[in-house]
Amino acid sequence: PEIVRIENVFKKYTLGTSQVQALREIDLQIRSGEFLAIAGPSGSGKSTLLNLIGCIDTPSSGKIYIDGRDTSGQTPDQLSELRARTIGFIFQTFNLFSVLSAEENVEYPLLQFKELSAAKRRERVVRFLDIVGLREFAQHRPNQLSGGQRQRVAIARALATHPKIILADEPTANLDHKTGEDILQLMKQINRNSSTTFIFSTHDAKVMAMAERLVRIEDGQLVEEDMVA
Ligand code: ADP
Ligand code: ADP
Repeated sequence: PEIVRIENVFKKYTLGTSQVQALREIDLQIRSGEFLAIAGPSGSGKSTLLNLIGCIDTPSSGKIYIDGRDTSGQTPDQLSELRARTIGFIFQTFNLFSVLSAEENVEYPLLQFKELSAAKRRERVVRFLDIVGLREFAQHRPNQLSGGQRQRVAIARALATHPKIILADEPTANLDHKTGEDILQLMKQINRNSSTTFIFSTHDAKVMAMAERLVRIEDGQLVEEDMVA
């Protein structure tokens, strides 16, 4: 089944009197369970596209459907709800709370779900820290962890809410090559073991090569590549 559908989307930013056409004529369909890379140089529109899919921003024109829902018909509250229940985010700068331990960071997004008991939250925290290989590091704060370990915490935090889609904006940009490859392998393994769809952006050719499907953005326009892996 289809999890994301983008139809003829344009995104324009206005900065004072000047305008930037960040995305033009974007059409993209993503099936549930895909492991998709959005590749392109800096400034090509990758973050803008991920922000639109993540319902953090809205298109200037065109339609975006997430899990069958037309996002243009939703109120801001409905969009927050859709985001919280359907999407997990991973960032290039990890975005962990520095005063919280690894396990507290993973638990944090679960606190918004009133239906989850403390015991259920605990169960998910333990389970997902285990999946990312950080069981022994549950009590560590971000500054007591390596870059790769911090990104693993961020992956566990993203998974903890049971999202259908994980959006990762340049997840390896702040990691050395070997660590970045390990993080991509972990994401791929999680993708295979669950039905979670992964959509990640990158400007690194070695990371692109690990995708199962690759779309390229050039100057705000999308070009689909042949299968790479
Ligand atoms: P990438 O993620 O590929 O580096 P972005 O999506 O961040 O590209 O940016 C695409 C274009 O839109 C660039 O020209 C960038 O300067 C511009 N842009 C991005 N965000 C904003 C914004 N909030 N306001 C104005 N222009 C923006
Ligand atoms: P439940 O906990 O509702 O009985 P499951 O335990 O099968 O159902 O899975 C719950 C969620 O955890 C699902 O969103 C699934 O995609 C995710 N999940 C299960 N196993 C893994 C795994 N090994 N890696 C990542 N996510 C997983």
